[in-house]
Amino acid sequence: MASKLSDDKKTSVLLVERGEWDTDPFIYNTSDWYYHWGMNPTPLYIHKYFGESEPRLNGKKPINLLSNMVGGCSSMNGMVSNSGSFIFDYEKWGEITGAKENWSGEIAKGLFKEFLDDFPIYFENRNRTWLNEIGQAIERSLGYQWNRDGYIHLDPSGYSTKQFWMTPMQRRISPYSQLLKDSKALETRCNLNILVNHRAVKMEYASNWKRQVVVTGVWIQNTQTKKRWFIKVRKEVIVSMGAVETPKFLQLNGIGDKGRLESLGIPVVVDSPGVGRNLQDHTEVFYLGRSVARSLVNITYTIRNSVIDGYTIFGPRNASTQGHKYLVNIDIIQRVGYVPTFACNIESNRPESRGYVEINSKDPLADPVIFTNYYSDPRDLEYVILGLQECVQVQEELTKMGVLDPSTPIPLGPQSTRSDYTNYIIATSMTDYHLSSTVRMGHSKDPSSPLDGNLQVKGLKNVRVVDASVFPFIPGANLATPLSLLSYQAAKLIKKSTTSN
Ligand SMILES: Cc1cc2nc3c(=O)[nH]c(=O)nc-3n(C[C@H](O)[C@H](O)[C@H](O)COP(=O)(O)OP(=O)(O)OC[C@H]3O[C@@H](n4cnc5c(N)ncnc54)[C@H](O)[C@@H]3O)c2cc1C
Repeated sequence: MASKLSDDKKTSVLLVERGEWDTDPFIYNTSDWYYHWGMNPTPLYIHKYFGESEPRLNGKKPINLLSNMVGGCSSMNGMVSNSGSFIFDYEKWGEITGAKENWSGEIAKGLFKEFLDDFPIYFENRNRTWLNEIGQAIERSLGYQWNRDGYIHLDPSGYSTKQFWMTPMQRRISPYSQLLKDSKALETRCNLNILVNHRAVKMEYASNWKRQVVVTGVWIQNTQTKKRWFIKVRKEVIVSMGAVETPKFLQLNGIGDKGRLESLGIPVVVDSPGVGRNLQDHTEVFYLGRSVARSLVNITYTIRNSVIDGYTIFGPRNASTQGHKYLVNIDIIQRVGYVPTFACNIESNRPESRGYVEINSKDPLADPVIFTNYYSDPRDLEYVILGLQECVQVQEELTKMGVLDPSTPIPLGPQSTRSDYTNYIIATSMTDYHLSSTVRMGHSKDPSSPLDGNLQVKGLKNVRVVDASVFPFIPGANLATPLSLLSYQAAKLIKKSTTSN
């Protein structure tokens, strides 16, 4: 957003970030991604949010990691890129908001081309050791066909090599690194500033001559010295704090459910009951299966790191009328010192379950209540079971082909019962770190959606939200790429409104 808006010299952009600059070398050196960011995150760059106890996961409390640095979570995420769906995401955004001039499959296709010009997305090499065999096993056992188009038509059907926000040398690419830092926009554009270690805390309001509520400025606070500054707003405030902090910020500033705000003593500016509602996330289940047959273990094997690269299947296979409900990532992975092993992770792709994000204090430093409510819609569990069964079928095929060692003990196999699958999923499900849809866009007349189809906060003149909270429902994809397309379009909408007004 900051890059796309400030490419017009007449537009001044100030980006305020509560966290740090991107100085940790492991941001761009991805060789140890999982251990550095997933297992052992540094508090300087990552904030851990503890979710409420999940009733359908035996009371487990999810830990949501969210970034605390320039670039947001795209500076520490798993870098996986997939597109979302022409029909089941982008067309639906147009239908739901009634703003078909802003959101449609065709518009998204154009945005995706722009995106690919900006970001040289890396495709996993199909000739890599064992990928050929895994591809054959997927086709033979499940009947999926290879998706050659790499999502260019915004259709993820079939199975595809995984695609990543990184260079062939495995250096992370993020919107911040690519469009602001490496492009030198930060150094060369006088109309663009980034202020780190400052938290936005409070908006000041006034009424304009049309009696509309206008934000005149934002108080920000230095996270170290605690000194406060007032930033005067010339044109617009764009809130991009992510699906947890954005609803929290709006609620703290009097935009939310009237009863709830009043119970906390917060003056109500806009009664918008949908703020913080509709929280959605993808769940993730990991499966570590059979080892590679002993006769094959000395084969040269190039690994990126210990996450699953390989292939992604979007299932079910015949999803043309309903959208893909789950995805299965499949690879043979190797950790240093271990025999290479078949592994999958299964992600819910279009879950129906919904939770919420809600403040329970007026303190801007207090974390809000996060309740993801996984599997509250039973269909979500059914689809993860299907995905896990497909993963086991591919493993069986690879065993028949002589790639995997049949004597390895496995947690689930072809003889496992449905309740074995259910128990495994309940015990191992975790967040896929895709919190979203808590300040969703909707039709201008729909009182339950806080934003209209221009991403404007209903009831305020000059505030927009542009981040993962605005999706009307969670996209059927890892979020970063659909979010980039959304941001490209948001920048166009803002420019258009600036020239027309
Ligand atoms: C561990 C992990 C792995 C992931 N893996 C993938 C993946 O492989 N592929 C993929 O597509 N997606 C992935 N995601 C999801 C994706 O990265 C996020 O959905 C996306 O980055 C969300 O973007 P956002 O702009 O909504 O919020 P964020 O990226 O969270 O950015 C919000 C920014 O606002 C700042 N902020 C918050 N409050 C304030 C305040 N009051 N004042 C000033 N600044 C503030 C935060 O510090 C942060 O920098 C992953 C996420 C995580 C956490």
